[in-house]
Amino acid sequence: MKKLIKLLKDKELNYLNQINDFIDPTCIYVPKDNNYQINDFIYKNTYISNVASSISGQIVKEETKKYNNEDVLCYQIINDFKENYKNKIRKKIIQNKEDLINYLDLFHLNVIIDKIKKITNLKNIVICAIDEECYSFNEYMYLSNYYTEIITTTNYLLELFTIKNGYIVTKNTDSESIKKVKSILGTYPKIKMKLLPDQYLISYPNYLCDYLNINKDETLIFNTYEILILYNALFKNKVLNDKLITISGNNIVKSLIIKTRIGTPLKEIIDKFIEIKDNNYNIYINGLYMGYQINKIDDVIISPLIHTIIINKPVKKEVSDCINCGACYKVCPVNINVKKCYFEKRISKKCLGCGLCSYICPANLKLKEVVKDGVYEEENN
Ligand code: SF4
Ligand code: SF4
Repeated sequence: MKKLIKLLKDKELNYLNQINDFIDPTCIYVPKDNNYQINDFIYKNTYISNVASSISGQIVKEETKKYNNEDVLCYQIINDFKENYKNKIRKKIIQNKEDLINYLDLFHLNVIIDKIKKITNLKNIVICAIDEECYSFNEYMYLSNYYTEIITTTNYLLELFTIKNGYIVTKNTDSESIKKVKSILGTYPKIKMKLLPDQYLISYPNYLCDYLNINKDETLIFNTYEILILYNALFKNKVLNDKLITISGNNIVKSLIIKTRIGTPLKEIIDKFIEIKDNNYNIYINGLYMGYQINKIDDVIISPLIHTIIINKPVKKEVSDCINCGACYKVCPVNINVKKCYFEKRISKKCLGCGLCSYICPANLKLKEVVKDGVYEEENN
């Protein structure tokens, strides 16, 4: 595997260690399906297009919104602030992998179920508290604030699968969560804490398993958010409707971590919490390297996949011709011939979307946007 590189971090995007709650949005948006219509009352946790409604209230209209960077027709549900729900899922007896999968299916947890199904010879469970994006602090905050729940669930899975090796992995700089986890780890002999250097991409399964010296094909890897989803399902019979998002950037007065509801309009959060310095800014969803740029906040909805918002001063980067330096190939962790893909306008299925090629390119070509995202138009910004 290629050596990881250290990114030059923007000093204005500071380390965050406090959560601000925003769990009472006036409305949420959920992708439309054909089972509901305008004026229907929606109970909290009703599944609409596989997404559990995070509030109770009434559908008042349909509107196209940006959901995971796609224009999606959504229902707008106005919050009645009563948290009405019915048909609570009943806990089943779980004795093996099949029971677990069947139970998680009741919560539509397809991503987690696919991970569990994929590993046939399971020997290790890894819980990774390192954010993929270097300006996100969500995973760290989950571990720091919910370490008991995370360790309890990890131990439950180790017992269920009758395996011995559980790992809680965090950065060696995360002193607060390290102290908290270590304080209770003595009670859980199967779980070890592993501290890794603060390097971009280290949370990718290949790098993670290399550092831990374990076989990726025998390892079930969850991030801390996923393990909390499991905790809520397994121990509380509940859907986790809240999530953390980091809002940061050099064009806002103070960066924050917000606990919010899935489906909340981003604009509502920004208006309530964020002071923007200058109205001329660029917005990046899910970070500067892995994320994507959007033109306006108004339509963006907090989907289950959104974790980071960066609001930055615009940077004028002059785009020039490729100078054949080869840096994009050298830096690509999965050895894609990036330049060739870019000029042939080809997507590579191997691409991790890490953005290192665009970061390193002296000609400022938007390489990742073509190779990963298939966006072929060059934009000057
Ligand atoms: S974004 Fe894709 S092509 Fe570019 S360096 Fe990362 S993996 Fe390679
Ligand atoms: S890094 Fe940029 S300039 Fe260098 S070879 Fe790749 S595309 Fe060309």
